[in-house]
Amino acid sequence: MGHYLAMDFSIPSELTQLRASFASFLEREVRPLEEQLQPQFWSYSADREVLAEAAAEVTRRAAAEGFYAAHMPESVGGQGLSTLGMTLLVEDAAHSGMRLAMLAVAPPNPSGPSPLLLALPESLHDTYVRPIVAGESTMCFALTEPEAGSDAQAIRTSAVRDGDGWRINGHKHYITNGDKADVAVVFAVTDDQKRAAGGITAFLVPADQFRRGPVQYNISDSHPSELFFEDSWVPDDHVLGDVGAGFFLAMTFLNAGRAYIGAQALGLAEFSLDAAVAHAGSRTAFGKPLAKFQGVSFPLAESKAEIEAMRWLVYHLAWSVDAGENAMLDASIVKYYTTERAYTVADRCLQTFGGMGLLREGPIERVLRHLRMLRVVEGASGIQQLVIARTLGL
Ligand SMILES: Cc1cc2nc3c(=O)[nH]c(=O)nc-3n(C[C@H](O)[C@H](O)[C@H](O)COP(=O)(O)OP(=O)(O)OC[C@H]3O[C@@H](n4cnc5c(N)ncnc54)[C@H](O)[C@@H]3O)c2cc1C
Repeated sequence: MGHYLAMDFSIPSELTQLRASFASFLEREVRPLEEQLQPQFWSYSADREVLAEAAAEVTRRAAAEGFYAAHMPESVGGQGLSTLGMTLLVEDAAHSGMRLAMLAVAPPNPSGPSPLLLALPESLHDTYVRPIVAGESTMCFALTEPEAGSDAQAIRTSAVRDGDGWRINGHKHYITNGDKADVAVVFAVTDDQKRAAGGITAFLVPADQFRRGPVQYNISDSHPSELFFEDSWVPDDHVLGDVGAGFFLAMTFLNAGRAYIGAQALGLAEFSLDAAVAHAGSRTAFGKPLAKFQGVSFPLAESKAEIEAMRWLVYHLAWSVDAGENAMLDASIVKYYTTERAYTVADRCLQTFGGMGLLREGPIERVLRHLRMLRVVEGASGIQQLVIARTLGL
């Protein structure tokens, strides 16, 4: 063999430098705000407006330094960063343990700019896409309905041609950022016979064309809303991609987003383990540090092994997306494995803290609540298992 052939698992040095500048941005621009707001985070009567303003401030600062929407192309104000690069930033934001850090990077939050928006005609990029990339306005992704969640092709929201545009009627729920979004990407049935196979279309609907319903408070700190479309009207050029291609667009968006969900789960698991290891080293019981009891250290060792498995699944998925491979199976494996494992890791780490683990002031409580939510949204674990089973011919 004349050639030495090897797989390369190293992180490119440009991305290592990018991570270092992102880490210093988080410490400089986000940490002080985070510390100032901690009493609000811990309170059951937190002022949601104060928290929302802090979140918007972090987003603005991150956008000004080019981190927020780095995954978007330069033509709309992004940096053209690879999926792997953005995945590492998402991991690092979550690993920092700061709640506000997750607002410094757009994905995996559906309020930030999605590549889905690039399916709009270029003539609308300045109006809608650039402001979202700059963190000046936000969007939401409106697919789920009360009667159609996992089985998304069963949506009832409809769009019919009306003049030079489309008239939309329907009811969406569980829409993240629905209470604040300036525009909604709305999925509606345009051909009831075809549905997923060419009968669902995606529309960009400005907020003056829909009514916001109640906020839906849930276990996590991210509270979605109901949205009502009552004879909403949008012109023809507000169709994303082709008429009938909406379901495919939705699935493409969700698949590409799975590396970011996985990176978030990975980062939160790493943060939980760091915190638990530090606590086990400093807290004593029965005359010794907790770390000296194998009943404490072995679950943390198991967590480390699972974190490394998560890491390489996530990085590999990001690599596959960048390489233009069909990443559907990898995406389902990542969504399923990382959210389930990270939840278990965080639960073990919470146990290491004893009573403090349960307190809102403790580091793990909100992480566990957030990870519980990630096991349901954007394709619940059962749906990922369904996709994986299908590839086995089951
Ligand atoms: C906090 C939050 C934020 C959200 N944000 C958004 C958003 O921004 N945009 C948006 O469009 N949606 C959003 N959602 C909706 C979310 O994607 C759905 O809740 C999710 O897809 C599950 O749908 P469902 O709640 O209707 O549950 P169901 O579809 O009723 O499923 C219930 C359970 O049955 C299981 N199940 C269903 N069918 C099968 C099957 N064939 N095989 C095995 N198991 C099955 C599921 O895995 C799940 O555990 C959000 C939800 C929450 C809670």
